[in-house]
Amino acid sequence: MLAVIQAIEKLKQERQAVILAHNYQQDAVQDIADFTGDSLALSRYAASTTARVVVLAGVRFMAESASILAPDKTILLPDSQAGCPLAASIDVAGLRQAKARYPDAAVVCYVNTPADVKAESDICCTSSNAVAVVRSLPQQRILFVPDRNLASFVARFTSQEIIPWEGGCITHYRVTLDELEQARAAHPEAEVLVHPECRPEVTAAADFVGSTTAIIKYARESRAREFLIGTEMGILHRLLLDSPEKKFYLLSPGLVCPNMKLTSLEKIARCLREMQPEVKVPETIRQRAYGALERMLAI
Ligand code: SF4
Repeated sequence: MLAVIQAIEKLKQERQAVILAHNYQQDAVQDIADFTGDSLALSRYAASTTARVVVLAGVRFMAESASILAPDKTILLPDSQAGCPLAASIDVAGLRQAKARYPDAAVVCYVNTPADVKAESDICCTSSNAVAVVRSLPQQRILFVPDRNLASFVARFTSQEIIPWEGGCITHYRVTLDELEQARAAHPEAEVLVHPECRPEVTAAADFVGSTTAIIKYARESRAREFLIGTEMGILHRLLLDSPEKKFYLLSPGLVCPNMKLTSLEKIARCLREMQPEVKVPETIRQRAYGALERMLAI
């Protein structure tokens, strides 16, 4: 392992590269990253860094977002197969049909979408700002794509009509209310922190619902000593680094995203050596998708 870490450090200098890792990545990948965070934070970092090359240790839509916000940089995705089933649940043709059905609705698209779907949307959102984004819009009808659970979570906080796309994250969908109740019975002192991609009955029963960044912050600032975590297991590494004196338990053994685990140190070294796979969003799509992301960032 030491040899591959040394190789990565050397290649990083040669290529003037930075490594950005999502909070769901393997521990070893998070440890060698220059920056770890949620998908929005990774894109922002990609746009602001002076590095010429960005290795995005995450899934494809994240590399695409980095390409949209930082078109002058080379964006590398260490494993070209690292996709997101939630992002794959929607395409442009389907979205256009839905828009034709609801012509008066504003289209709010979660960042977990392909670049061409973002280009077809009015505004993007993340799990941390979805409610604020929807509330900022004058339209009374919102076509919210592609995560139905996040849509249902947003609907609790607005009087606007939320029309959900029927997509979902298979990883977060696995957590059941039964599991939550059993875990709570086993750890009665623990606070339950879950991601809004979980089922509505799970988010309704939780003590806190938020993005990975928000969950990490909540755990740090809470007086509680124990937490039941309802998001992908990779976050445990970051939670323990951040709050080593506290205890964290995963709500369900199913909270593993196989796509997020495709990235390895060896693949990072290889992509830096070969300068591929590169992810580059075509300029015509990029400009329109940039508009949707920029409108979100302005809120
Ligand atoms: Fe996609 Fe869910 Fe995996 Fe995130 S955890 S990359 S939303 S499948």
